Amino acid sequence: MKPLTEPEIRAAFVNCTKGEASRLNVPRDLAEQPWDDLDFLGWRDPQAPDRAYLAAVLDGRPVAVALRSSGAASWQARRSLCSLCVTTHTGGVSLLVAARAGKAGKQGNSVGAYMCADLACSLYVRGKKEVGTKLHESLTLEEKIERTLANLAAFVAKVTA
Ligand SMILES: [Zn+2]
Repeated sequence: MKPLTEPEIRAAFVNCTKGEASRLNVPRDLAEQPWDDLDFLGWRDPQAPDRAYLAAVLDGRPVAVALRSSGAASWQARRSLCSLCVTTHTGGVSLLVAARAGKAGKQGNSVGAYMCADLACSLYVRGKKEVGTKLHESLTLEEKIERTLANLAAFVAKVTA
């Protein structure tokens, strides 16, 4: 993906206030991120591990979503599947919840999805990060990348709907 700058990422948040977007922790090492191998940038807040964020460029526009882990109970002890990259992990998938954008979010509406706990979907898809169990799939890498992006776009569409 196209590398994003900190101001671009902060301006791209769709489901938090401008104040929250200006205060949340954006990775300091943006310049060192493996952008060429990323379909989206995902990170955990080092000071608040239940908070996670993702930033992507969809339809040529930066979009970022603030997420929260829905608590320890949501961790799957058994194998579970990331809904974005369709990687199977043992214990490495967490249920992340995004407040919906705008009025719906203020009324407490949210959208949840199981995702790789470290949000490194792009690296799992490319085999740059290993998982315990690999699904045998006939898809090419390009098809897997397309699928990840389509799943991400569908999730973002639910958040902004
Ligand atoms: Zn994933």
